[in-house]
Amino acid sequence: MAYIQDLTPCSYFRQWEQSSLAVGWLERGHAYPRGTVDEAFFAALFRLCVNPWRPPFVTAGFHRCTLCQFTGLNAAISYKGAHVSLGTENVLIPGETKVFIAPTMILHYIDAHEYVPPREFQEAVLRCPEMRSMAYLKAIKALGISLSSFSQ
Ligand SMILES: [Zn+2]
Repeated sequence: MAYIQDLTPCSYFRQWEQSSLAVGWLERGHAYPRGTVDEAFFAALFRLCVNPWRPPFVTAGFHRCTLCQFTGLNAAISYKGAHVSLGTENVLIPGETKVFIAPTMILHYIDAHEYVPPREFQEAVLRCPEMRSMAYLKAIKALGISLSSFSQ
């Protein structure tokens, strides 16, 4: 996993670079905002990360937490009866003019490493349509994310 500064183009996915903003691409050695977040935001983000949408044939790569001192957590986490596997998936959240792309590891960064994502990302998560719903897919497409990796 690469470090990408919050709210800069998500260069990890070249095909989406013009349409996206990175959030939560943290790495040891790079400072990040710390504090507490509203649990309603965390709960909403967790729900969106349970089964995140991505176009077919887009490989998600492999993430490890470099903020953890020794184990580099790569596992599933549970919250209120739901489970999210960390380390392989990313979540796309439609914003005002761009799509935010965050690794699902962002849940662990918030929960265990006190990461506070940008306010515009938190607001976008709270008003994000249900994952994989028609409203969600329309919002993603309207911001320039092709629903098929072949039509780029
Ligand atoms: Zn960690």
